[in-house]
Amino acid sequence: TQSTRPQRLLGAVQKNATRGDPRSVVRAIDHFCRHKEWAMNVGDEKGCILDSVVSEVNPAAVLELGTYCGYSTVRIASLLPPHAKLITLEFNPDFAAIARQVIAWAGLEEKVQLVEGASGDWIPKMKEQFGVKTFDLVFLDHWKDRYLPDTKLMEECGLLRKGSVLLADNVICPGTPDYLEYVRSSPRYTSQYFKSHLEYTKVEDGLEKSVFLG
Ligand code: SAM
Ligand code: MG
Repeated sequence: TQSTRPQRLLGAVQKNATRGDPRSVVRAIDHFCRHKEWAMNVGDEKGCILDSVVSEVNPAAVLELGTYCGYSTVRIASLLPPHAKLITLEFNPDFAAIARQVIAWAGLEEKVQLVEGASGDWIPKMKEQFGVKTFDLVFLDHWKDRYLPDTKLMEECGLLRKGSVLLADNVICPGTPDYLEYVRSSPRYTSQYFKSHLEYTKVEDGLEKSVFLG
């Protein structure tokens, strides 16, 4: 039987990364994606911007929308302070199974709760199912037409507090025009663009950081 790209990515981690060393997991995935097969991880260049936002926010509770193979999950979780938690949502069970193994290889299972299912179904259940009050940081990196409806859903469900930070990937490529227009024009956010490149390419892309003002 033929292997899938996520399975080959996991193989590269198991071959080249050290168990319990998140940085080596990130390096192994970036090397695989630059030199063997492109994959839709936030990647090394935008990953540095992600890291700096995580460090600056120093969040106790993080929500990630779109886990894929767990690359950004590992980046974020490895920078969290003690006792902080990351909930990451993925609706593709094959990707979730790979991500669980990548996260475990990095030694980060304690910090990460990977939840299988669609964001639109889980966001309204976050409080009762996971005892979440509000998220300090949300990383949006799932399908691009879901950024805006899921942001409005998080607002309605009371998952954002004054000062919560939304960090959205791929706002230029593939692009999220309705979301960008919303966070840039709404008086409920202050929003800032971080110019970069689409993962593992020279094509312009970037991250939008938006602070919820309540
Ligand atoms: N954040 C990952 C990283 O940087 O390593 C990459 C995530 S990939 C770009 C997007 C993922 O979101 C895919 O694995 C897809 O299956 C998942 N996805 C898309 N829409 C979703 C939704 N509404 N709910 C849950 N997962 C979703
Ligand atoms: Mg992305």
